[in-house]
Amino acid sequence: MKKVIVIGGGPAGMMAACRAAECGAEVTLLEKMNKLGLKFSLTGKGRCNITNTEPEIMTFIEKYGQNGKFLINAFNTFFNKELIQFLEKRGLVLKELSGGRIYPESDNSWNVVDVFADYLKKLGVHVQLESSVRELLHYKNVIGGVIHENGTLLADAVIIATGGNSYSQTGSSGDGYQFARVTGHKVTDLYPGLVPFNLLDMDTDLNGVKLKNVRGTVTTDDKILSEAFGEFYFTEWGADGSVILRLSRDVKEEIQEDFLTLHVDLKPALEEQKIHERILREINNNGKISYKSMLKEFLPEKMISFFITKTQIPEDTKIANITKEQRETIVRNLKNLTFTITGTRSFDEAIVTSGGVELSHIDPRTMESKKIKNLYFAGEVLNIDGDTGGYNLQAAFSTGYVAGENAAKEPHNNEEN
Ligand SMILES: Cc1cc2nc3c(=O)[nH]c(=O)nc-3n(C[C@H](O)[C@H](O)[C@H](O)COP(=O)(O)OP(=O)(O)OC[C@H]3O[C@@H](n4cnc5c(N)ncnc54)[C@H](O)[C@@H]3O)c2cc1C
Repeated sequence: MKKVIVIGGGPAGMMAACRAAECGAEVTLLEKMNKLGLKFSLTGKGRCNITNTEPEIMTFIEKYGQNGKFLINAFNTFFNKELIQFLEKRGLVLKELSGGRIYPESDNSWNVVDVFADYLKKLGVHVQLESSVRELLHYKNVIGGVIHENGTLLADAVIIATGGNSYSQTGSSGDGYQFARVTGHKVTDLYPGLVPFNLLDMDTDLNGVKLKNVRGTVTTDDKILSEAFGEFYFTEWGADGSVILRLSRDVKEEIQEDFLTLHVDLKPALEEQKIHERILREINNNGKISYKSMLKEFLPEKMISFFITKTQIPEDTKIANITKEQRETIVRNLKNLTFTITGTRSFDEAIVTSGGVELSHIDPRTMESKKIKNLYFAGEVLNIDGDTGGYNLQAAFSTGYVAGENAAKEPHNNEEN
């Protein structure tokens, strides 16, 4: 019976351990923390957006950018439908929300972790908590086991599923990158991914303002780097929400080098001309009200004093007295409110790590390293990161499944090496 060690008890590691055990291996799962799935428990604000129902693999992989192609083989083996079946078969009731996002009906991510914990037990996987792996044992280009904080374990195959660098307090502190480097794998530059922005001179009045259905655009020197549509909110230091997280994926390199500009279109459904017409209607119908009162028609209450400062129109101006030039300023700011982005929040506030183990060093059919025999990688430790919407967990589950299945396989006698 083949002995397999899985390092890391997140979604990739738990799935890898289950699959390796289903395929007949004797499996030990080593987890650094005192619980399985700590980061997993935080996903989807504690509700866990497990996957997405998008049926086409080729459309699904677009959500990971250029590197999505690496996942085609894994998705052909174990995709969203298989993941849903896997969980439902073990009693988890799921629900679908807008945009094809799948959640547990209970809105409690711990229920998903429990499904895995129960199944691992049933399969006889040795789960060792508080067992941080310190070192890989390998001789030349063959893996032989690991040294962890409580001892040494020998194995025929090792799967590294240690996650990325973000939310390090959950245990995912980048150990797998070091294991990869010392065994001769390249690790690309690492950036906080799906991460909020710091904005220059944040007005404290804006803190907590939430906007639905806005368009965000990031530019540098008038060149558009990224555009996104959705929910947006201000914080004491800057901006967060689905729009910002999406934008952050596309500008991760540029944002390290320069201050970029964030443009917020507060009325993306309205052409400038329509807004002019609306203001003119207000002027005709209620000419005596103040500029400040009129803004209540256009903006959340908490944004009004900031907007008045931005447009430099005195708040008590009767709207009948607003000039054409001032009207243009109002429209311009509603359609294109600009902020200077000074950078992103740190890894500890990033949903994922962008970058990771170089994909050309890994066989996408098996997740085995091309450098070290019987060493496998799965999950966020790889140079794969996706959009919000359940894509990152699906990638972790799929690569974990493939790694587990292949790590458990007995070597063929005629295998070249
Ligand atoms: C706040 C937040 C919300 C998110 N929401 C979603 C969402 O709704 N949907 C979605 O698709 N994605 C979401 N993500 C992203 C998703 O959680 C990750 O992409 C996913 O957890 C990666 O899985 P993984 O198994 O590769 O790594 P991880 O989940 O990071 O697990 C790695 C495990 O390895 C352990 N480990 C690390 N080093 C060692 C070591 N040396 N020895 C032993 N064990 C070790 C860690 O303790 C950890 O348990 C969210 C992330 C965050 C932070």
